[in-house]
Amino acid sequence: MKLKGIMRKKVLLFACLIAGLVLISCNKKENYDTIIHNGMIYDGNGGEPFKADIGINADTIAFIGDLSNASGKNEVDAKGKAVAPGFIDTHSHHASNLFKHRDFIAAVCQGITTIIIGQDGGSSFPLSDFYKKLSDTTVAINIGSYSGHNTLRDSILGKDFKRFATQDEIDKMKTLLQQDMEAGAFGLSTGLEYDPGIYSNNDEILQLAKVVTPYGGRYISHIRSEDRYFWKAIDEIITIGKEAKIPVQVSHIKLAMHNIWGKADSLLALFNAARKNGIDITADIYPYAFWNSTIKVLFPDRNFNDEKEADSILKEITLPQDIILGSYEVNPEYAGKSLAEIAKLENKTPARMLVDLIARIDDWEKRNNRDCQENIMATSMDEADIKKLMQWPYTNICSDGSLSGTHPRGYGAFTRVLGKYVREEKALSLADAIHKMTGLSAQNMGIQKRGLIKTGYFADLVLFDPATVKDEATVAEPHKISEGVEKVWVNGKIVFQDKKTTELYPGKIIKRQ
Ligand SMILES: [Zn+2]
Repeated sequence: MKLKGIMRKKVLLFACLIAGLVLISCNKKENYDTIIHNGMIYDGNGGEPFKADIGINADTIAFIGDLSNASGKNEVDAKGKAVAPGFIDTHSHHASNLFKHRDFIAAVCQGITTIIIGQDGGSSFPLSDFYKKLSDTTVAINIGSYSGHNTLRDSILGKDFKRFATQDEIDKMKTLLQQDMEAGAFGLSTGLEYDPGIYSNNDEILQLAKVVTPYGGRYISHIRSEDRYFWKAIDEIITIGKEAKIPVQVSHIKLAMHNIWGKADSLLALFNAARKNGIDITADIYPYAFWNSTIKVLFPDRNFNDEKEADSILKEITLPQDIILGSYEVNPEYAGKSLAEIAKLENKTPARMLVDLIARIDDWEKRNNRDCQENIMATSMDEADIKKLMQWPYTNICSDGSLSGTHPRGYGAFTRVLGKYVREEKALSLADAIHKMTGLSAQNMGIQKRGLIKTGYFADLVLFDPATVKDEATVAEPHKISEGVEKVWVNGKIVFQDKKTTELYPGKIIKRQ
């Protein structure tokens, strides 16, 4: 009996020991750097959201499921809130002056954790130097870049750019592009409505696009025209996708002229037909009916003195009261005023005024021997088109914005989609909108291991309130930070909370993979 009792005690002790060991090892497994409890998870795939906890270790999503018994060094209660992958801005100008503004407040306040730069044909050159600087001095968000055609063209042609490039010059551009591709560029970007790219022909672009093909690169384009030569420009980008056999993306897609309003269906039919033929064409879009650019973009034939041309621009593309000067270094007092107002002040017709404003820029540049700061915001898109283009299953959301820009998109594009287009107008479901800011964006850019809430993916996350999220930035106050975004993580670290940046800089360089 005594022996049996001792045996029983020993067995009991052994069992306790095993149980203890199991418990310890479980506890070990269930310790995380960060746990986000009880959030409604929108995983970026566009499907129905689900309730779960997320465990983060270092820069990675380690677990998704029930972590009610686990502990984390940092724990966040996300009850009643949405948790989504950090937003990816596929067309961003937020990186100008980035080493002075490492916290990227304009981007993170709207939930953006990754930006793609090198847009509209303009990039840091050579990219390898930029990446070196960026790895020495990190910033709050992740950054990837394209190689810009205008930058390459400028470094080969210099001031003599108002012509086609020779084959020798194209070959030199190809070599520079190859160097950027070796450094990790995502592909080639063009801005064919701008100098010097506007003077290139289709062949120059196609030859350069073919350089990125063997690298698995891509092509993104501010196409040659968003108004009067629109259909030709669309034909050009589809041809590039077909001939170079690479994915092509139309940047900030828009129908920006009155006589092409209502043609979103025809455009999407062209895109769908191209996709059926194996051309991987996609687009990004920002949620505003007005754009922001140089005033000169209104004259694709560069006939700035032609008052008749100015008159037709002011009838067909945008109205005098719908052009607002964002900045105008020639006469800073004109910033914030419409062309109609300025014309009235100077007692001129709006067409004459437009021609004069540009002539004064050229004068000013000659006198000061540098570029004049100037930009306009012009309303020339139609809401119905914006919605249709945004709803196309291959369109992702972008901002086209910048930190110090005069267009409110710099601080409010993504939150505007969530507030206006999702909650108020129900043009998109919340899950679909998030997909268009994350999973689809990563797919359209070829970004790996980001854009989804998935075990093993980088812990770029945004916690926001779907009931209150909205943009606050306006034309009058373009730098007001967005409402409803509560916390933003980049590579597992919080970079934004309580409406402030945290002065952490966990962003990484994203290279083509
Ligand atoms: Zn652009």
